[in-house]
Amino acid sequence: MPGEWILLNPGPANTTRAVREALVTPDLCHREPEFFEVMQECRAGLVELAGSGSEDYSAVIFTGSGTAAVEATLCSVPRPGEGVLVVDNGVYGDRMRQILEAHRIPVTVLKYDWVTPANPSEVDAAFESDPALRHLAVAHHETTTGLLNPIRELAAACRRHGRRLIVDAMSSFGGEPVDVGADGVDYLISSANKCLQGIPGLSFVIARREALAGLAETPPRSVYLNLHNQWQQEEAGNTPFTPAVQVFFALRQALEEMRAEGLANRIQRYAECCRVLRAGAAALGLEILVPKGCRSHLLTTFRLPARVTYEPLHYAMKARGYIIYAGQGDLKRIAFRIANMGTLTPAIMRDVVTALRESLVAAGGEQPPGSAAD
Ligand SMILES: *Cc1c(COP(=O)(O)O)cnc(C)c1O
Repeated sequence: MPGEWILLNPGPANTTRAVREALVTPDLCHREPEFFEVMQECRAGLVELAGSGSEDYSAVIFTGSGTAAVEATLCSVPRPGEGVLVVDNGVYGDRMRQILEAHRIPVTVLKYDWVTPANPSEVDAAFESDPALRHLAVAHHETTTGLLNPIRELAAACRRHGRRLIVDAMSSFGGEPVDVGADGVDYLISSANKCLQGIPGLSFVIARREALAGLAETPPRSVYLNLHNQWQQEEAGNTPFTPAVQVFFALRQALEEMRAEGLANRIQRYAECCRVLRAGAAALGLEILVPKGCRSHLLTTFRLPARVTYEPLHYAMKARGYIIYAGQGDLKRIAFRIANMGTLTPAIMRDVVTALRESLVAAGGEQPPGSAAD
């Protein structure tokens, strides 16, 4: 058995022992009330976390990684002939485009570089010029870099034009403030194993009941990833397929722990972990890729300093018990990522900074400023 790693990758994140132990249940048939009770508690707990107007929203849980819920939403929502406007300022925006194209759904891409948030007035313009674009799909937190898109302003643009808003909040739900009712989100998508601190294997959509009900007439493009059918079955206390039974037990435990900590406190803890990391990294001379003003408090992309490449840095950190994450795609050559989701604390983040200081030197970098005096 490996030791306990501190996971600084953006999910799966570190969990509590109680969440991991919740996986060990008596063998259970998924058609028995003992399972459905847990499923319904999870659905209710998710809606509760999504903010105001929760009586108008309903949660639909899929067995599958986060992308399953993204694909279920994108292939279930547009009616025949309707198009989707997709914000692409990172890998996850681009993945939504790929999913839509795979289902032959018309897609228009609003493309930015990876450090520029979406501009709501460009969303206005796109909707004005194409009446067939009925939906906007955007990643709230682009995990590619740690960039936040302005969900509330984008929602306002959707409202002005009577369009629906689909938000991939995979890596931000439970870690950055989102309020589906107040912000005006029609479909919010996330998974169990990022800021919720659950086990991988479940993803979900929290959607307006009225929007879900309206999907009934749309001919299905997928059998498994059929959002309306999944919702109907779950509403009726049923499930169309075999769910990841034990992962639901772990999610229920993770949601109980979230309730005990409090969502606002969870968000604050993550922000404090992030502050400690960034302050420590700044003292080591590390620069942050994403400009101030659109950075999340969940993940930071740092530029690799002169003479340091990613692999030796990764292994030096791993030898110290920390798993960092490469920059995405071409960024790997010039940057690396540190996420601060999961059961981390500011004290752990101070240890991360110490490990980073040693590892940068071990990976061939210069002695950071101040270290000679230590
Ligand atoms: C993690 C993530 C996903 C989905 O990833 P899976 O590997 O399918 O769980 C989608 N979007 C964003 C923004 C993510 O961070």
